[in-house]
Amino acid sequence: MSAPLAWVVVADPRRPLRPSPAHRIEGLGETIFAEMSALAVATGSLNLGQGFPDSDGPPALLDAARQAIASGHNQYPPGLGVPELRAAVAEHQRRHYGLTWDSDHEVLVTTGATEALAAAILAFVEPGDEVLALEPFFDSYPAAVQLAGGRLRGVLLEPPHFALSRHALEAAVTPRTRVLLVNTPHNPTGAVLDADAMRAVAEVAADHDLLVISDEVYEHLTFDGRGHIPIATLPGIADRTLTAGSAGKTFSVTGWKIGWLTGPAPLVAAARAVKQYLTYVSGAPLQPAVARVLGTHDDWVAGLRDSLQVRRDLLVGGLRDLGMETYTPAGTYFAVSDVRSWGYEDGAQFARDLPSRAGIVTIPCSAFYDRHREPDDETGRSLLRWTFSKAEGTLIQALERLQAARPTMAGGASR
Ligand code: PMP
Ligand code: GLN
Repeated sequence: MSAPLAWVVVADPRRPLRPSPAHRIEGLGETIFAEMSALAVATGSLNLGQGFPDSDGPPALLDAARQAIASGHNQYPPGLGVPELRAAVAEHQRRHYGLTWDSDHEVLVTTGATEALAAAILAFVEPGDEVLALEPFFDSYPAAVQLAGGRLRGVLLEPPHFALSRHALEAAVTPRTRVLLVNTPHNPTGAVLDADAMRAVAEVAADHDLLVISDEVYEHLTFDGRGHIPIATLPGIADRTLTAGSAGKTFSVTGWKIGWLTGPAPLVAAARAVKQYLTYVSGAPLQPAVARVLGTHDDWVAGLRDSLQVRRDLLVGGLRDLGMETYTPAGTYFAVSDVRSWGYEDGAQFARDLPSRAGIVTIPCSAFYDRHREPDDETGRSLLRWTFSKAEGTLIQALERLQAARPTMAGGASR
């Protein structure tokens, strides 16, 4: 693997690129997910890195997409998204959370939640503005904020519980703060923010007149009977909130890239102004297919959630039995370990050693921390993310491989 694991720098100072790329893309090379998934293929490793399931969504969804292609849903859909999906999204928000959005003005279908978030950020962040996000954060956040000319500031969630501290949140607000970007259930830590944390977010946003962008793509993947609290349900906060969702996680179709934004009409209109010049539209036959299942497949989604909980327990329990300190996630399909429990200091080094020693690919959490920290700042350095979105058999095989590799790795062998 090439030297810097987490960030590939576009310009090699020894061979400057001509024409040179804009400063706004500095440091934005290949994503850690693309890099690690390619490594899994190249080394024939089990891929417990990039978060995607290894089985597809409900048959009715897949059939509906086939039918939509066969029946001619193959040209540009409307800019906001097909009406039946917008109606299904509005109804989903009403039925699950009591939020009422007008599907003609307050719902926007996007190319995955990634585009929803990028469009919202580009629509509202001025150069020099600060965006607060729970750190570690999903890698598209710093990239989108950088493209907007803004600055992402992290509010640290710390192990073992990765809880949000109201004090830390308040302390991070400056006169330049414009957006509070929240993500619950949280990637990569698996934390699910509780009612107190959500109250803190709502109050800080209101006190400082911030826009809230809420990433809720794992809304249905919460464990042990916990519920998901959308920030827009807190009193007085919906008017300043844009919420992103995605069919990818809920229905195990991550490659379809059907996402959405909901929120008050003026906020959605601003995001739409950007979205229409990023992709214009996408997924013509996939949108009606998602509309078909969004209101009818709660049982399927509950089954996915329950089976993920079983797989979480399998992976987290197995890792702990192998002496790997691992934090129990309350949601998502990710779990975080501290590799110091195996004698390593650096999660990236561990992730680099793992394919050849054990035939497993993971994601070092350094990819989810602010890369502008001081070089000697150790925050998150020893953390590693695993996904349990794979078949039980794959997880068992991974644990067996780890057990076999442990004698050659414990003690941080190659450094
Ligand atoms: N937010 C989070 C927290 C994610 O983990 C992901 C990964 N899929 C996304 C957004 C992007 O979602 P999509 O694939 O729908 O673009
Ligand atoms: N959300 C997925 C993860 O966190 C990856 C999505 C992507 O590759 N952009 O693993």
